[in-house]
Amino acid sequence: MTLLNSEAVKLGSLTLLLAPAMSRTLFVTTALPYANGSFHIGHIMEYIQADIWVRSMRMAGHTVHFVGADDTHGAPIMLKAEAEGITPKQLVERIGAERPQYLQGFQIEFDHWHSTDSAENVELSQDIYRKLRAAGLINTREIEQFYDPVKGMFLADRYIKGECPKCHAKDQYGDSCEACGAVYAPTDLIEPYSTLTKARPVLKTSEHYFFQLSDPRCIEFLQQWTSGSNAQGNKHLQAEVLAKTREWLGSGDEKANLGDWDISRDAPYFGIEIPDAPGKYFYVWLDAPVGYLASLKSYCAKIGLDFEALLDPNGTTEQVHFIGKDIVYFHALFWPATLQFSGRKTPDQLNVHGFITVSGEKMSKSRGTGISPLRYLELGMNAEWMRYYIAAKLNARVEDIDFNPDDFIARVNSDLVGKYINIASRAANFISKYFDGQLAYPDDAALLGSNWAQAADRIRTDLEAREYGRAIREIMAHADQINQAFDAAQPWLIAKTLASAEPSQRAALQHICSSALAGFKALSVMLAPILPALSQRVATELFGQTSNFVWVDAGLLPSQINPFKHLMQRVEPTMLDGLFEIPAATQDQQPAGALTAASNLADASAVAPGGEPLAPIITIDDFVKIDLRVARIVNCEQVEGSTKLLRLTLDVGEGRLRNVFSGIKSAYTPEQLIGRLTVVVANLAPRKMKFGISEGMVLAASHFDPTIDTGIYVLDPSSGAHPGMRIH
Ligand SMILES: [Zn+2]
Repeated sequence: MTLLNSEAVKLGSLTLLLAPAMSRTLFVTTALPYANGSFHIGHIMEYIQADIWVRSMRMAGHTVHFVGADDTHGAPIMLKAEAEGITPKQLVERIGAERPQYLQGFQIEFDHWHSTDSAENVELSQDIYRKLRAAGLINTREIEQFYDPVKGMFLADRYIKGECPKCHAKDQYGDSCEACGAVYAPTDLIEPYSTLTKARPVLKTSEHYFFQLSDPRCIEFLQQWTSGSNAQGNKHLQAEVLAKTREWLGSGDEKANLGDWDISRDAPYFGIEIPDAPGKYFYVWLDAPVGYLASLKSYCAKIGLDFEALLDPNGTTEQVHFIGKDIVYFHALFWPATLQFSGRKTPDQLNVHGFITVSGEKMSKSRGTGISPLRYLELGMNAEWMRYYIAAKLNARVEDIDFNPDDFIARVNSDLVGKYINIASRAANFISKYFDGQLAYPDDAALLGSNWAQAADRIRTDLEAREYGRAIREIMAHADQINQAFDAAQPWLIAKTLASAEPSQRAALQHICSSALAGFKALSVMLAPILPALSQRVATELFGQTSNFVWVDAGLLPSQINPFKHLMQRVEPTMLDGLFEIPAATQDQQPAGALTAASNLADASAVAPGGEPLAPIITIDDFVKIDLRVARIVNCEQVEGSTKLLRLTLDVGEGRLRNVFSGIKSAYTPEQLIGRLTVVVANLAPRKMKFGISEGMVLAASHFDPTIDTGIYVLDPSSGAHPGMRIH
């Protein structure tokens, strides 16, 4: 009896350790990218944020199902495919096929990647709709809307342009004026036209389907849900997101300010058909978030999990969505309400982040200030530099983060490589050389281990709270302490006289280096969610572990190491120059016809004036696109750190001055140029360079073969011309 009892107790304590309350099951998603274009750096930032979180949770022993999908439906994809002469499915497949190189490239490890244009999504979207209808939350209404009679389709606001009713600026969009900021209905536009066909749109009525978000049941539910918490005590929404929802939902005596949600679109539309409503499709925003469930369902089928059981509304799975601040309305109102009233599990946590800016400016392809994630990888830049940098900038609030090239270089080179990697490269060599890789610790080693375990636990807590920047600051403070202790002990001095040293000195050297390496191991565990490939190498190559780090490894002191191998390069500042490329829109815009004409001409003419064949023939229409203006060089200076560039300050008669970088340093001194007139391409898209933004291009002549004539000759107009005159 006694024996049996004690076994029961043992079993009981084991059961307690492995109880579901300790090991959580999480269903995690990122926002679904719209499949009409490649990933930009904003997508990659969000995926890195979510991937770090997921990895940290897994290292703590939790089960995570991390899925994504392409958002594929809607008019923009339909029209883009049509313009390319392919079907929407072909377009979506092509975009889908390029996703893996980005995800693998940045070590973003979704368990599964799916598509909203899938059987699972059709089934789930229609099922949710039917249940909402059965709950009495769907109604229909006649809507009068602009219709393109040539194209035969209703026009969303972005496909209608016309004259602003307020300031009379031409070519303004159907919802707001870019010139004066006025907001209006498309029917207010003067001389409206369809951007698809230039036809004058006509008003036409059509029956639309609405989800009744303004129903008191929805408002009551959302008021509770938005201010609620999950079983872990985590709030569903961040404080600032909750405050935003209060503007829509009202609170106390304040009434809700919610309209019903138009969930239908008329054919032609690329989307999911609404059951029992011929010619009507779900608006893309209805089926897009359902894509989270569709992807999970497809994944469950693949690995043999019960999808419905996993998302049981009364179950313990936590549903966590990482999204950007621009789509809060959909995720904090529509999404939980449609799930709730279709009898499904509602989300447990929305993790909302801000946007990423570059050098303090909003990213813009046309201004050349965007960072292409693919170009980053193609340049051979290390994905973990980006993961580390983005992590260092992120916190749990809805704040924009800035990518600053100089800051990037400093954090990677000084902190990541200079402080963290440096510990291992310094300490490991002594251990390999003098102690055959064996580590030994002073008598208080247990304390060392428990200190690192506690430190790692604080980092784990920070990462779960998405306070990544704080975690990295703390990790780097530990790195500083380890380096300082190492420097203070001066192990290199002991090593110099080791042959004649006392045994106690020999032990001291081993202790100093072992403690530094135990610290390096602990920091590697803490950084493992952020630097997965590097930490795996540290675990397996240096410490000879057979598996990747988990959180408890931080407190376990290593007993031996393998010889240190180089772990990480520093950033070459020149790499950043290549990252900011000339925007694609300004390159290779030759229509096919022009190329054909040019090749005919090239055959006829063997002469290559100036050593270079003439460029393809253009029409006068092409030429007038280039706006050449007379400019005065009001100032010119050297560019520190550049062997080629001069910085010109130009007056183009605009009442402001422009900054232009020009590769003419080999031919001119600043003094030779100041005061002169020249010619500038005034409508070239601004280009972000390492030294600043260049707002135009100065014209200069040079020979194609620099061995014939190495000169560069800046163009200048005859005297009498003045700044701002156009060259025709
Ligand atoms: Zn206006």
